[in-house]
Amino acid sequence: MGDLPKIASLLTSTIDHPGMISLNIYLPYCNFNCIGCHNRAIAKGKFNEIPLEKLIWELDNNFIVDIVIITGGEPALHGAKLLNLIDLIRKRRGDLPIRVDSNGSLPDILEMIACHVDGFAIDIKAPPFDRDKYEKTIRARFCPDDLMRSVKIASGLPYTIFRTVKYPWLTEDDLEEIRRFVSTYGGGKPHLVNPYFEVIE
Ligand code: SF4
Repeated sequence: MGDLPKIASLLTSTIDHPGMISLNIYLPYCNFNCIGCHNRAIAKGKFNEIPLEKLIWELDNNFIVDIVIITGGEPALHGAKLLNLIDLIRKRRGDLPIRVDSNGSLPDILEMIACHVDGFAIDIKAPPFDRDKYEKTIRARFCPDDLMRSVKIASGLPYTIFRTVKYPWLTEDDLEEIRRFVSTYGGGKPHLVNPYFEVIE
């Protein structure tokens, strides 16, 4: 077994993939700094590491789950270690599909792992051709070409979904533009628009 990423949290969830119960594996660190980040501490690398044995126990004993979701943070930051984790999950639970969540900024890594997973959840945080609005949300540099490549890679996999948080500064026209983008490039995969919850930073 190769090097694995540190695991920041583990959770069995009924709300993260439509109609499925998931085992969520949270990996630390993120290259975005989104307003209202749902996992600020993990994204900033503040966590108590979960021992590998706990993950192995979950994989070997948690039979209520239908899917494994690797999330974060931005899992793609872990590169080859992420691929090692996917291989470990596959070996122990070949019966479960694997989804990886991503902000779409690292398409080279998504391309590397695409044939090892069953889907991605790609966040579309603003109209992809409105760089100012995108960067206002993520508080980092945004590259539309990277997001476009990520969407195209994800669009071909059966468990892919696209997600948008309805930030208060997105207008109805913005949401319509995002929907058009997903329906044009997303391979017909579901697009979930989730409510925004203010987070005190
Ligand atoms: S991409 Fe996700 S994990 Fe990263 S800062 Fe934004 S909301 Fe948080």
